[in-house]
Amino acid sequence: MQIALVGIGKIALDQHVPSIAASPDWELAATVSRHGTVDGVEAFTDFDAMLAARPDIRVVSLCMPPVPRYDYAAKAIRAARHVMLEKPPGATLSECHALADMAAAQRVSLYATWHSRSADKVQAAKAWLAGKTLRKFTVTWKEDVRRWHPGQEWIWEPGGMGVFDPGINALSIVTEILADPIHVTSALLEVPENRQAPIAAKMAFHHPTAEVAMEFDWRQEGDQTWSIEAECDEGTLALHDGGARMLVDGAETGDETSAALSGEYPRLYARMSELVRAGTSDVDLAPMRHVADAFTLGRRELVAPFTE
Ligand code: NAP
Repeated sequence: MQIALVGIGKIALDQHVPSIAASPDWELAATVSRHGTVDGVEAFTDFDAMLAARPDIRVVSLCMPPVPRYDYAAKAIRAARHVMLEKPPGATLSECHALADMAAAQRVSLYATWHSRSADKVQAAKAWLAGKTLRKFTVTWKEDVRRWHPGQEWIWEPGGMGVFDPGINALSIVTEILADPIHVTSALLEVPENRQAPIAAKMAFHHPTAEVAMEFDWRQEGDQTWSIEAECDEGTLALHDGGARMLVDGAETGDETSAALSGEYPRLYARMSELVRAGTSDVDLAPMRHVADAFTLGRRELVAPFTE
């Protein structure tokens, strides 16, 4: 199937372009971006122009930041294109629900992707946790914003979500592997005094049997931490490197050399081809709901200004 990639920036070039190139299902037929292009691929700077010029391209993958994404997705659905959304799927829950309704009415596939959910060990962790009695569940997502989001001003603006931009990846794994529903009971959001979005967050969640705590921080230099730890009556589980590595009772399971992000995007594109072929959608907004709740309930604390 031919696909158009929209918003040629960091994630499009790092992950989407190589994953499409390696897939037997997809051919990158066009790009739409004001500044970015991909060698050898027809490039548009205007989305409407691409939709009008290339009616043969039935699928678009939207890689721009969340705030502008709704307008692009709505245009694509109105033009009867199937749509794949980078995470987070939009700036608000309401606009994501609106897109899901529009896609259903137009009979096109809409896929709200969560790349971390397709990390190597996520399904194994879900299977291990099933039927066990959880007592303590801790999520630690600490990375260096200067290293991973250089020059990305949008991430600090309203709708950019700040540290929840990576934190929502953790939530996408958590909402996949936990059998019981959770909800935020308290949150502390640390917001740089010159910015609109938090640089760090601490949250507690309600769970029927376990104490659940999460900490996201963008001020981590040196080693980076993307870990989830579960203590059950029956043993302990740890996911590290964003779900790429899994330890049970302290012992590594499987191949410990797999890198964070490896395999994630190829799995997203394989899933999108399944959805299009089956004529269905996959829009799970649970990770975003927890972010919205943290913003609703969170106590704001102003912290030192952030400069690049
Ligand atoms: P980015 O490089 O800052 O932005 C991607 C591209 O989107 C830009 O190059 C820009 O292309 C386009 N864009 C920016 N603002 C726009 C606007 N107002 N209207 C239309 N297009 C706009 O960001 P990114 O890191 O690739 O992140 C994009 C999305 O991917 C985010 O939702 C992020 O959470 C997700 N993501 C990022 C990473 C990562 O490691 N960075 C990992 C996984 C997922 P033009 O200027 O050429 O139009």
